[in-house]
Amino acid sequence: MRIVLLGAPGSGKGTQAKLMVEKLNIPHISTGDLLRGAIAAKTELGLAAKEVMDRGDLVSDEIVLGMLKDRVTQDDAENGFILDGFPRNVAQAEMLENLLSELDMALDHALLIQVDPDEVVARIAKRAEIEGRTDDTEEVVRNRLNVYAQQTAPVADFYQEQDIVTEILGKGSIEDVQARIQAILRF
Ligand code: AMP
Repeated sequence: MRIVLLGAPGSGKGTQAKLMVEKLNIPHISTGDLLRGAIAAKTELGLAAKEVMDRGDLVSDEIVLGMLKDRVTQDDAENGFILDGFPRNVAQAEMLENLLSELDMALDHALLIQVDPDEVVARIAKRAEIEGRTDDTEEVVRNRLNVYAQQTAPVADFYQEQDIVTEILGKGSIEDVQARIQAILRF
């Protein structure tokens, strides 16, 4: 099963993806995690990406697509994957479509996790305390939410045209949201 998770920063995509992995036995591929890995490894790419990420802007499509391509072509992704944080704009959605069709693959589901903006801000503030991410400060979060509204929200429309979008209510406990996802995917 090939799944894309959509939703604002702080909507719980990463948390839900980790729970889905346990059941579905397919990898969770987060472009944010791949980029943070490159930063931690102090690669040239990581150093270039860090400045952009610390502002809350999007890293270039070419860099992210390159990382994604390397990851989805690994053996463990042969039977599917859960994408989290990609695509972030319509150009990336088109690039993903091209990449998957080259590999003779297609997406099965785009799950859009819907959370109130106030809830998102509260969740990110909590995450900032726990994880200490440098892009979880108030000012940067505000920019990330703007970037989401302007560039990422249209990705849902892109998949709506393909009729693969399901909206998931992101309210309630982590388990509540997971149960809604499992009901949709029937696992
Ligand atoms: P995330 O962990 O998904 O919240 O991503 C953290 C940051 O990494 C974002 O604010 C962007 O700067 C960068 N990033 C992650 N995924 C992408 C992507 N698909 N395209 C561009 N930038 C990305």
